[in-house]
Amino acid sequence: MNAEILAVGSEMLTPDKVDTNSLYLTQEFNTLGVEVVAKAIIGDDRERLAAAVLAAWRSSDVVVLTGGLGPTEDDVTRDAVASALGIGMHFDQSVWESIEERFRRFGRTPSPNNRRQAEILDGAAVLPNPNGTAPGQWFAADGKLLILLPGPPRELKPMVTTEILPRLVKSLPVQVIRTRWYRVALMGESDLDTLIAPVYSKYTNPATTVLASPGDVDIHLRARCGTVEEAESLLAEVGDPIASLLGNRIYSTNGDSLSKTVGGLLRDCSCTVAVAESCTGGLLGAALTEVSGSSDYFRGGFLTYTNEMKRTLLGVSAETLALKGPVSEITACEMATGARERTGADFALSVTGFADGPEAGLVYAGLASSDGAQSKRLQLFGDRQRVRALAVIHALDWLRRTLESTR
Ligand code: ATP
Ligand code: MG
Repeated sequence: MNAEILAVGSEMLTPDKVDTNSLYLTQEFNTLGVEVVAKAIIGDDRERLAAAVLAAWRSSDVVVLTGGLGPTEDDVTRDAVASALGIGMHFDQSVWESIEERFRRFGRTPSPNNRRQAEILDGAAVLPNPNGTAPGQWFAADGKLLILLPGPPRELKPMVTTEILPRLVKSLPVQVIRTRWYRVALMGESDLDTLIAPVYSKYTNPATTVLASPGDVDIHLRARCGTVEEAESLLAEVGDPIASLLGNRIYSTNGDSLSKTVGGLLRDCSCTVAVAESCTGGLLGAALTEVSGSSDYFRGGFLTYTNEMKRTLLGVSAETLALKGPVSEITACEMATGARERTGADFALSVTGFADGPEAGLVYAGLASSDGAQSKRLQLFGDRQRVRALAVIHALDWLRRTLESTR
């Protein structure tokens, strides 16, 4: 089942006011497996809104309108819907009485204008609004739904949870949703898509989304079916070939971050890690410790920006620094070795490189373990922040692969 949202109100066409109702509705609908396929913001214009309602009604199963249910001339939602669908409206006496009652409670009397809020589409169910004047309306015809909701979020949200979602569940075909998740480090989005698109693009169910951030790509599969077995078998049909194409580039199948995955692997083998950082300025330590419980495996680290600090804190030899420089394979090894020895950790990661300047992007990562120390030369692309972020991902992913290969 798919849905379309029309947020009504000229104020949301100004630079000052954002339509948040549709975000909330999308989130709630998605949990039921109702997919929002289109949304629009329409100003308070009867004809324009009627045209949008008609188009939405023709192409979507569920049409939701928010706003424009107030008492004033510029609240045009009811009129526009009636004229778009060619249905009448009637004055609902009991709705009017509850409006009068609400005003009485606040020591006021409704104005004649408020009578407009008791106008109900013929055939629609009235959805009570305990937090405001205008009731919502629920109109079903031709196997489709049209829903009118008040604009103010404090009125809309309770109406969605108490009235809309329970009704929607009843009108949905029985359906289950199952998902799969693959997270991949250090593969460009287009390379990855070239590899896996031939597999997933043949299917609309499961729906596949690919979301990329620097150094990281998320692949999300979502199957909607009548039974769990059907959904799982569709996920396997599409997910298994994707998984085998990507192999050990996948670091997580449950949505965990790279840091959390590395933490889990360290915990599994009761191992600890330490860091020695130069150009990343603490970002590697920050990444490892962003996970709660990281004190189980993270011992600490060294932030050695100058040669002198690399020598005194980590024991990098003066000769190495003089002959090879601070950004070199051997310096990265000695930094990692120093961090490992000084903290007693099982593993130590190091990073030293140029985040900008003439040699921007040249970075060495080091990894020390009981097998000795190794380092890798990386040529990273992007601005200073991106080079630093990528260096962190490279170091973490190297440790992940090392831990996975020794399991
Ligand atoms: P009222 O009876 O208060 O006039 P209404 O149903 O006519 O309610 P609108 O007049 O369209 O709703 O909007 C009332 C207020 O609700 C707006 O000023 C705005 O602050 C908020 N609002 C309306 N639509 C949205 C939206 N889509 N997202 C967030 N806030 C909204
Ligand atoms: Mg209004």
